[in-house]
Amino acid sequence: LSERLSGVFDKLTRQGALTEADVSAALREVRVALLEADVSLPVARDFIRQVQAKAAGQAVTRSVTPGQQVVKIVHDELVAMLAGDEGEIGALRIDSPPAPVLMVGLQGSGKTTTTAKLARRLKEKDCKKVLMASLDTRRPAAMEQLAVLGAQIGVDVLPIVPGETPVQIARRARQQAMLGGYDVYLLDTAGRLSIDDELMAEVAAVRDEVKPRETLLVVDGLTGQDAVHTAENFDRRIGVTGVVLTRMDGDGRGGAALSMRAVTGKPIKFVGLGEKMDALEEFHPERVAGRILGMGDIVSLVEKAQETIEQEEAERMMKRFRQGRFDMNDLKTQLEQMLRMGGVGGLMSMLPGMGKMQKQLDAAGLDDKVLRRQIAIIQSMTKAERRNPQIMQASRKKRVARGCGLEVSDVNKLLKMHRQMADMMKKMGKMGKMGKKGLLRG
Ligand code: GDP
Ligand code: MG
Repeated sequence: LSERLSGVFDKLTRQGALTEADVSAALREVRVALLEADVSLPVARDFIRQVQAKAAGQAVTRSVTPGQQVVKIVHDELVAMLAGDEGEIGALRIDSPPAPVLMVGLQGSGKTTTTAKLARRLKEKDCKKVLMASLDTRRPAAMEQLAVLGAQIGVDVLPIVPGETPVQIARRARQQAMLGGYDVYLLDTAGRLSIDDELMAEVAAVRDEVKPRETLLVVDGLTGQDAVHTAENFDRRIGVTGVVLTRMDGDGRGGAALSMRAVTGKPIKFVGLGEKMDALEEFHPERVAGRILGMGDIVSLVEKAQETIEQEEAERMMKRFRQGRFDMNDLKTQLEQMLRMGGVGGLMSMLPGMGKMQKQLDAAGLDDKVLRRQIAIIQSMTKAERRNPQIMQASRKKRVARGCGLEVSDVNKLLKMHRQMADMMKKMGKMGKMGKKGLLRG
C-alpha cells in the first residue's frame, strides 16, 4: 500500500512540472480569450508575461492536461489581480460625516444612475443619511433626472438653483449636508462624450472645493480599449479612489475590469447590473475572471481533479491510520501536501478529529524551508527505513544526515515528530472515532 502511495507522487512529479512549451501553447489561447474579452492589448501582454514566469515549473494535477493546468493558473492569477487588497470591494471610506463622494466619468457611462443606486444602497444597507446633488449645469435634463431618481428611492436631492456653477453647487451641497446632519453627500458631475480639458478643469475645481473622501470613476463595462484611456486620464488629472463598472448585465466579457485594475491600480468597488435602482452589486472577482477568460469549464475541471486527488489520498491515509499504521512514507505524503497547500490545511484538515495533530504541526513552525528539509531527510532513507523507522540506529542516522546535507540532530527531530504522530494515530484509531462517515468534506 505504501508503494502505491508514493507511486501517486512519483507519477505526479514525473508528469509533474509544466514545461515552457506547455505554458506558451496554452497562453496563446489565453491571449486570444483576453483580447476577445476586450482587455486592452498592453494589459493583456503584461498579464501574459507575468503568468508565464509564474507557471513554468508548476506541478500538473493528475488527469488534467498541462494546457488545462495553465488555464487554471491564469484564472487564479486573474482573480488575485482583480481582487486587490482586502476590504476594498463594496466599501467606501465615509467616516467623519458629512463625507463627500465625487462621481466622475464620461457622459453616458451611467454616472447619474450609479449615483442614485449608491445612495439607495448607503441608505438601505448602511443606514446612512444621504444627500445627492447634480453638478451637471449644462444639461438641465440631467439635474431633473437625479431629482426624479431621488424621489423614487426616497433620498434627498439638493434643490436646483439655476445659474450656479458646479463649484457653487458643491459648496451649497456641503453646507446643506452639514446643517441637515447628513452622513454622506454624493456629487454627480457632468460628463462629456470624450475627455476634454474644460471638463477636467471643472471637475478638478469641485474636487479642490470639497476634498472628496472617495472619487469614484464610473466606467461602461462594455468598453474595453477606451476604458483604459479614460481611466488613465481621470486618474492622472482628478485622482480616482475606486471604480464602478456599469452595464455588466450586458453581453460584454468584462475585459474593462482587468484593464481598469491594471492601469489605475485602483479597486473596482461595485458593478452595475441593470437600469433598476437595486441593480448594483459588490464586485465579484471570481465571476468576472470567469467571464473574461470564458473558460469556466476548464477551471472547474481542474479544481475538481485537484480535489479528487486530495480526497483519494486522504482516504488512503485514513485506512492506514485505522489500522494503526503511519510510516515515513505517510509522513512524507503529509509534508508534501502541506508544502503544496502553503503549510496549513493539507490532508489533515480533511480528516475528522485531526485538528490537534494539525496544531502540533503548525506549532513545530513548519515553513516551506523546514518542510523541504524534512522531505529531503525522508528521501535519503531506504525503503526499509521508511517503512520501519525503528531500525534507525546511529550509523543509519549519520548516513541519512550526510545524504541530505544535514545534521544528525535534524534527523532525530524528524524521527521524534514521526513517533509522536504515530502515537497519536494509534490512540485515535483505538478510540474508533474515525468512522468512515464524515471523511469527505461537504
Ligand atoms: P451618465 O450620463 O453617466 O449620467 O449616464 P446615465 O446614468 O444617465 O445612464 C445612461 C444610460 O445607461 C441610462 O439609460 C441608464 O439607465 C443606463 N444604465 C446605467 N447603468 C446601467 C447598468 O448597469 N446596466 C444597464 N443595462 N444600463 C445602465
Ligand atoms: Mg448624468
